[in-house]
Amino acid sequence: MPQSRFACFAIALPLHRVFDYRIASDESVVVGARYRLPFGNGVKTGILLDASDISELDPDRIKPVQERLDDAAVINEHMLSLARWMSDYYLQSLGEVVFQCLPGYLRGLRPHNPVRVKRWRLAKPDPDLIAGLKRRSPRQFEICDALSRHESGLTAIQLKQINPAWHTVVKALESRQLVQWEWMDQPVLEVPADDLPRLSPEQHDCLVELEPRMDRFAVHLLDGITGSGKTEIYLRLIQGRLALDLQVIYLVPEIGLTNQLIERVEQRFGECFAISHSGLTEFQRYRAWDRFRRGEVRIMLGTRSSLFSQCDRLGLIIIDEEHDQSYRQDDGVRYHARDVAIKRAQMLDIPIVLGSATPSLETIANCSRDTYFRYRLDRRPTRFAPPPIQLIDVRNSRFEFGCAGQTFTHIEQHLAQAGQVLIYLNRRGFAPIVMCHECGWQSLCQNCDARLTLHQSVKTLLCHHCGFAQAVPEVCPECGNTEIRHYGIGTEQLEQGLIQRYPDTTVLRIDRDVIASRAALKSRLKQLQTGQPCILIGTQMIAKGHDYPAITLSVILDADQALFSASYRASERLAQTLFQVSGRSGRGDREGEAIVQTRFADHPLMQALSQRDYRDIADDLLQERRLLGFPPYARVVIFRADAIELKAALARLEDIRAVLETARRFDALSCVGPMPALMTRRVGRYRAQLALISQDYQALRSVLQQSMPALEQLASSARVSWSIDVDPPDL
Ligand code: ADP
Ligand code: ZN
Ligand code: ZN
Repeated sequence: MPQSRFACFAIALPLHRVFDYRIASDESVVVGARYRLPFGNGVKTGILLDASDISELDPDRIKPVQERLDDAAVINEHMLSLARWMSDYYLQSLGEVVFQCLPGYLRGLRPHNPVRVKRWRLAKPDPDLIAGLKRRSPRQFEICDALSRHESGLTAIQLKQINPAWHTVVKALESRQLVQWEWMDQPVLEVPADDLPRLSPEQHDCLVELEPRMDRFAVHLLDGITGSGKTEIYLRLIQGRLALDLQVIYLVPEIGLTNQLIERVEQRFGECFAISHSGLTEFQRYRAWDRFRRGEVRIMLGTRSSLFSQCDRLGLIIIDEEHDQSYRQDDGVRYHARDVAIKRAQMLDIPIVLGSATPSLETIANCSRDTYFRYRLDRRPTRFAPPPIQLIDVRNSRFEFGCAGQTFTHIEQHLAQAGQVLIYLNRRGFAPIVMCHECGWQSLCQNCDARLTLHQSVKTLLCHHCGFAQAVPEVCPECGNTEIRHYGIGTEQLEQGLIQRYPDTTVLRIDRDVIASRAALKSRLKQLQTGQPCILIGTQMIAKGHDYPAITLSVILDADQALFSASYRASERLAQTLFQVSGRSGRGDREGEAIVQTRFADHPLMQALSQRDYRDIADDLLQERRLLGFPPYARVVIFRADAIELKAALARLEDIRAVLETARRFDALSCVGPMPALMTRRVGRYRAQLALISQDYQALRSVLQQSMPALEQLASSARVSWSIDVDPPDL
């Protein structure tokens, strides 16, 4: 009779193994629960994966667990299987993957207590009383007014959207007995509003095809031009799932989760959804996760990691803007949320819907598989088609803060007709280059192979890669000359120039520097919503997802760089950006225009972009990829190393290459490197890479599987560390 049992645990360490511990025989074994485990001289949190009566290790050397932290599993069987698949596919440590699948709040030793949510409502829904508040206490009025429009009450998160300082206001209202709270355990599922928009014939046909396919696994691509009403289709599909008592995960890119979308979902489904994104605290995200898990809410609307939301009755996954790069996680556990979502849907035998106006080439290529369905939406339900992309040849133009004369003419025309103008410039700061006019000195980062960007408003030179900052020098540090100049244009300079040129026009800037909080973003987007003429300047944050009907002109300032990029994805990305940005305009009752400043108007890609639609261009780009043997017609795995010296990083990759070379079928792969990475020094470390490329996926897998045991012996250390990147976003 064994006195104790053995269990193996996943621990968040970059080691490709699990850890055995002893469990007293009278203790119940809970797969998927967290345990506190002795580890070295400290403790770690582990998730119990499996238990048995025997261990392969010397039983006397196996330590007992200290304590079980959860009464029940925090990670269910399905999610554990998904984690195993991810670990195997992405060659990441199972322990790290398992913990990645949990909300950050539960990755340590914190207790998991089912959280109850409060909901506030009006104690006396008396319109006169509320109106009376208007003058005396506008803040109380604002809250009461909102509550009077939500009979079932509002949660803290919702109140916070009305007023960030809602808490004190509500406290005051409570003490006056105007407002009261209650626990919210069961959501009120509001009956969908009667005034649903009439579906366009295209939307209708698309749904007629989709609906009967919702009972099993398949990947559905909504390949619909910008503004063709994909969101409306998602909402109808969700409605159908909810009617069957199923739950839905709805993923959007990081910046796609704006109030506009939240309001749309709320209008349709009331309160039965949770929101999760990186702007929330760990605790808020945990609470959203828990509410969805318990079925208290039935829709999870969130960014990348919301994919790991658990529930009993998942019936649909939606991935909006499936081409978006924010679905790829590039630090810690490397994975692509779209691809993991497809696997998850397959494991659960449920449908997954991808949507985009500019689908990734991978997805387009996958559409030839028999589990993929592609639906085209070629029309906007509103009046005007997306504008064609017009090239503005600026070879002989005079520029002012990055804009050519012809560009100003367009801007002025649209402002004069009370349109809103969107200007896309994917470079924040004032100027990207600061130089001494005398000796050629340049402001370089001391930690990275990169220039420091001038940020005029804070009088700082800033590295966009490591955050290194220094004051702008008054004289050249090399020669003492006082003539230090800046070159190139960033959004800050563009904003300043436009404000000077158009003093009577509102100029709004949206980039990472001004949008420190979601509230700041929200207030700017609110201004757009008013429809008043204005100029909106922004980085990629403004490129996608937004639906502001008053925008009539989209301007793209610096598209040219992409024509000469070393990345094999540059053309695809340029096409996506141009079609997305141009697609922001002409969504209302006025026709839109889209212009691109370029010095290379004759370039074949520029010509194609201005004359053909995205699908045509994508088909051509796919042909090119096929000829060159790049993804999606080949698979890539990159080994990355970084070290305090370049030599050490390269040497580690030589070791890795030596291991790989001993594997059978190595000759079926092309192996590029070791070589220094594109930006070799970054955040103080030297980086190098070794890429494996193959059209023969089986051979690639086989080489990696044979090599892993030996590779795991090459431990990472502070001096030199290495990692594997499967399906990297670039070479
Ligand atoms: P997409 O997600 O394809 O870019 P949206 O779903 O945001 O497009 O729709 C674009 C605009 O068209 C939105 O303002 C939306 O309210 C409107 N819209 C969508 N479907 C319809 C419809 N059937 N009738 C009228 N307007 C619609
Ligand atoms: Zn100098
Ligand atoms: Zn730096």
